[in-house]
Amino acid sequence: MTDFTYPEPKLFIGGVWKGAEGRETIPVLNPATDAVIAQLPVATRADLDEALDAANRTFPAWRAMSAFDRAAILHRAGALLRERARYVGRVSTVEQGKVLAESSAEAAASADIFDWFAEEARRAYGRIVPSKFPGVRQNVLKEPVGPIAAFTPWNFPTTIPARKLGAALAAGCTVIIKPAEETPGSCLELARALDDAGLPKGVLNVVFGVPAQISEYLIASPVIKKISFTGSTAVGKHLSKLAAEGMKKTTMELGGHAPVLVFEDADIDKAAAMMARSKFRNAGQICIAPTRFYLHDRIHDRFIAAFERIVSGLKVGDGLDPASTMGPLANDRRLDAMGALISDAVAKGAGLHAGGARIGNAGNFWQPTILTDVPNSATVMNTEPFGPVAVTQRFTDLDAVIAEANRLPYGLSAYAFTANAALSNTLADRIEAGMIGINHGVLTGPETPFGGIKESGHGSEGGIEGLDGFLITKYVAQG
Ligand code: NAD
Repeated sequence: MTDFTYPEPKLFIGGVWKGAEGRETIPVLNPATDAVIAQLPVATRADLDEALDAANRTFPAWRAMSAFDRAAILHRAGALLRERARYVGRVSTVEQGKVLAESSAEAAASADIFDWFAEEARRAYGRIVPSKFPGVRQNVLKEPVGPIAAFTPWNFPTTIPARKLGAALAAGCTVIIKPAEETPGSCLELARALDDAGLPKGVLNVVFGVPAQISEYLIASPVIKKISFTGSTAVGKHLSKLAAEGMKKTTMELGGHAPVLVFEDADIDKAAAMMARSKFRNAGQICIAPTRFYLHDRIHDRFIAAFERIVSGLKVGDGLDPASTMGPLANDRRLDAMGALISDAVAKGAGLHAGGARIGNAGNFWQPTILTDVPNSATVMNTEPFGPVAVTQRFTDLDAVIAEANRLPYGLSAYAFTANAALSNTLADRIEAGMIGINHGVLTGPETPFGGIKESGHGSEGGIEGLDGFLITKYVAQG
C-alpha cells in the first residue's frame, strides 16, 4: 500500500462531514516519526449543540426501527470494516504507533464486535412474571436508555469505540462520541463504515476538542441519558461526579495494574511466552496488560530467564515496518512517565534487569524493560505504568501473595499460572478482578464480558452484559 495518505480528519455531525473551515485545529502526530500528519478540527459550541440536536431528533425513529434492521446495518458495517481492515490498520498505526499486524487485527476485531452486537440486538428480551392478581400480566420490558455520550482513549482507537458504538446502536441508542484527539482517524473509519452501511444520518455523531470542555457540556445536557468512558481512573471519577448531577447511568472502564502469579508447578516456558506477548503488545499500553509479576521463589530465576529470552528478541521500530514487533509509545507523555517510574524504582532498590531507556531521539521508542525485586514503596508498584515495563517480586506463601495481588485499589484483570486445579479455583475465588486468566493470556472477545471492579470501574462491555449497559428496565403491570 505505497499510495497511502492519512485521511483528513473531520467532525461527523448530523450525517455531515465537517472539515476545519474556520474552526480551531489540533495537530495529529505520527508517534514513530514526530511528523505532523493532519490538523484535527475542534468542535465549536454550535457544533456540539448540533450534535445534541441530531442525537435527540433521530432517537425516536432509531429506537422504533426493528432490531433486525438495526442488526443489518451493523452487519454491513462489519463487512465493510473487514474488507478495509488493512487500510484502517494503517490509519491506526500511523496515528497511534502499534505495529501493522496488531492494528489490522484490531480493525478486524471491530468487525467481529459489530457482528456480535448486531446479533445481540435481536435478543433484548424482557420477561413476563406470574402475578398474584388473576388476569394481571406483569411485563418486564427492555428499552434503549436514550442518546448517549461516549469518550474513548488512544490505546485501542478502533476496538474501544467499536464496543461502545456496537452495543449502543444495537440497543437503539443514538450516540455522540469523542474519540481521543491523538487518534481520530481510526474511529472516523468506524463512522465511515456505518455511514456507508446506511446508518440514518444523525444517529452517530463524532466530535473532537478539549476533552474536559466537551465532556462537561455533553454530560450536563438533558439530551444525554448515559455516559460510557474508557480511560484513567482519575478522569473516570471526575466524569462520574458530573454524571451524578443528572443521575445518569454510566459505564466506566478504567485503569488496571494486573498481578501475575506464577507458582512453582506452572509450565514456566508457556507462562513466560504468554505473558511476554501480553505485556509488550501495543508497547504495554493496555489496561489489562500483565504488570506485577509475583514469582514463586523456586522458579523466579527460571521464569526471568525465559521471559528475558523472548523480550530480547523483540524488534522495536516503526509499526509500518513489517520487521517491527513493538512500535513506539503513543505520545511523548508516556516517555516522561516511563523515565520517572523506572528511575524512582531503581532509586528505591529495584534491579534493572533489561531495558530502561528511550531508543533514539526521534519518535517515542522505549526499550522493553524488566525491573526485578521491586519494593512496594516504588511508584510503579502502585501506579499503572501503561508502557513496556514488567516488575517482579518473589513469594513463597499463598495467602501473602493473594493479599499482595489484592493490595491495590485497581481490580481490572489478573493472571495466574499453576498446574493445580484446586489452587486455580481458589485463585479464581479470591483474586479481586473483573477478569482473570488462568494458564491463559487472552481476556478479550466480543462474546465475553469485559470490565473491572473496585476503582477499575463498573459495567461490562462485551458478552450479553454489553447490550444491557445501554438498556433500561421498565415494569408494566397490565390488568
Ligand atoms: P488522561 O487521563 O488525561 O486521558 C485518558 C483518556 O481520557 C484520553 O483519551 C483523554 O482524551 C480522555 N480524557 C481526559 N480528560 C477527560 C475529560 N475531562 N473528559 C473526557 N475525556 C477525558 O491521560 P493520558 O495521558 O491520555 O493517559 C494517561 C493514563 O490514562 C494512562 O497512564 C492510563 O493509566 C490511562 N489510560 C487508560 C486507558 C484504558 O484503556 N483504560 C486508556 C488510555 C489511558
